[in-house]
Amino acid sequence: MVAPKYSRVVLKLSGEALAGSLGYGIDPDVVNTIARQIKEVAESGVELAIVVGGGNIWRGVAGSAKGMDRATADYMGMLATVMNSLALHDALQKHDVDTRTMTAIEMREVAEPYIRRRAIRHMEKGRVVILAGGTGNPYFSTDTTAALRAAEIEAQVILMAKRVDGVYDCDPLTNPQAKKFKVLSYIEMISRGLGVMDSTAASLCMDNKIPLIVFDLNQEGNIKRATLGEKIGTYIGG
Ligand code: UDP
Repeated sequence: MVAPKYSRVVLKLSGEALAGSLGYGIDPDVVNTIARQIKEVAESGVELAIVVGGGNIWRGVAGSAKGMDRATADYMGMLATVMNSLALHDALQKHDVDTRTMTAIEMREVAEPYIRRRAIRHMEKGRVVILAGGTGNPYFSTDTTAALRAAEIEAQVILMAKRVDGVYDCDPLTNPQAKKFKVLSYIEMISRGLGVMDSTAASLCMDNKIPLIVFDLNQEGNIKRATLGEKIGTYIGG
């Protein structure tokens, strides 16, 4: 058996990843498939913290564009990430994966509060940790959460699961000539405006030298391949 290249990773799952073909809300079958992939990784001994997005339910910017107070709309977005996290937790538990959900906004009846040292301890004990509620602050994103938590828990890489198999110079879904990058630097990603993650998240990754692997979640086994160091998707570093 090949040993994983990374021993501690942050996996970023966008809310959309949980929606599947529904495009909205949570598709339990899709969540189940993701949980199966995560189980494989957890069983290989890789310590795993998962940051879950909320865009399949609510995005703060969309609410504020329609006149809502931005901070209020963002708190709703953070709550959406908690719903997604609970769905994923449930699916992981059904696959017998020991899991703990931790929230950045306290709601003790629902999950543990996020405490950095406790999160690390859970991972050391072989538990998968789901980090819900984003950073706990409005005006941020769950991409920034992934970057922040990766720095805090000293993860070696962020695995960003998408619905495309990497980063392209333009949208591959609308332009068949789109060229895929195998390797990219953060500076290039930011200056080209490639839209992989927001600039706050990108700067945090760059400043803290945390590499990012963008890959296609729909291809089963890809999370494990990424942890093994197989060259899938696009690697962003430097
Ligand atoms: N959000 C926030 N602060 C955070 C993380 C998330 O305010 O630290 C809110 C924000 O409104 C965002 C929503 O939660 O639009 C859902 O998160 P995100 O858009 O990052 O989810 P994804 O696109 O990954 O599904």
